[in-house]
Amino acid sequence: MAKARILFVEDSRSQAAATSDFLERAGYDVVWAENGTSAIKVAKTEPIDVIILDLELPDLNGNEVCRWLKVNEDTRGIPIIMLTAKAGVQNKVAGLEAGADDYLSKPYMDSELSARIYASLRTKALQDELRRKNQQLQDLLSKVEVLAVTDPLTSLFNRRYFENMLVKEVERARRYEAPFSCMMIDLDHFKRINDAFGHVAGDSVLVETSSILRSSLRGVDTVARWGGEEFVILLPESSKEASLIPANRILESVAAHSFRLAPGTVITVSIGMADSSGISADELGDRVLSDADTALYLAKRNGRNRIELYQAGPAGSAPSSGGK
Ligand code: GH3
Ligand code: MG
Ligand code: MG
Ligand code: MG
Repeated sequence: MAKARILFVEDSRSQAAATSDFLERAGYDVVWAENGTSAIKVAKTEPIDVIILDLELPDLNGNEVCRWLKVNEDTRGIPIIMLTAKAGVQNKVAGLEAGADDYLSKPYMDSELSARIYASLRTKALQDELRRKNQQLQDLLSKVEVLAVTDPLTSLFNRRYFENMLVKEVERARRYEAPFSCMMIDLDHFKRINDAFGHVAGDSVLVETSSILRSSLRGVDTVARWGGEEFVILLPESSKEASLIPANRILESVAAHSFRLAPGTVITVSIGMADSSGISADELGDRVLSDADTALYLAKRNGRNRIELYQAGPAGSAPSSGGK
């Protein structure tokens, strides 16, 4: 194991020499600083494991140095043992209040100093270990959070995340009367792709389609895998007419794409769209999705590779066609 490095801050040269000598023989690396300013500089720039800090220094008071080291991000983790010539309780209290971890009255026995250094190092090692474990836990937690909202195959958001976003969007739409629209997208005759090229090829078609969806949308839009070969998109601040622009882009890009594992095959999607206009606030969330689904069903019925916009109207009336 590497030697522990001690920063020894002491203006008395003879005291510094005697104690440094003892500590070096005890197996420590000692860096000596004879005033507060150079102590701060060393602590900031060199790896230090423990600081032994004299209370009385020629420039700064030991408590000031201590306070500075404890507010500074880079140095706050280093244990500080204060050395005080005055044995008064007040001095000790002031030192501890300034952030010192321990104190020792002068004159001190070398063996006691050594024991206190050892204890500080042990505490610091435990704290470091705790911090490392904490960080690992935090990293793990972030990963779990990402996994919980991600579809493993396509890396798009999953249905659960989409539903949460929709709830928020509905809330926003109610409050600010901000319109939003939803697109339901389904791959056409996807079963045939699986049958012709295999399930692995089918999976890779889903992945490539996801990339097309992502690159066809704005940053504020949320695209998720609804399940199977179906995708859903939430477009805030966008009527269904305005959403025709990205919808057409998707339709054309998918049809023009050459899918890696389905060579020579034109793959298409059908899209159903609906928006929040004309829907009462309390049924907004469910209705926009079911309207988009109704429109998607019509897109399929009307021949696939097309967009249909949901139109409210008497039962059985056909929605208007927005695509080809
Ligand atoms: P339509 O145009 O009417 O949508 O026809 P379709 O064949 O796409 O629709 P259908 O619902 O009959 O079949 C969907 C197929 O998608 C069946 C299922 O095996 C396949 N599928 C669902 N999820 C996945 C997946 O994760 N990977 C692969 N490779 N196939 C999937
Ligand atoms: Mg002094
Ligand atoms: Mg489907
Ligand atoms: Mg399908």
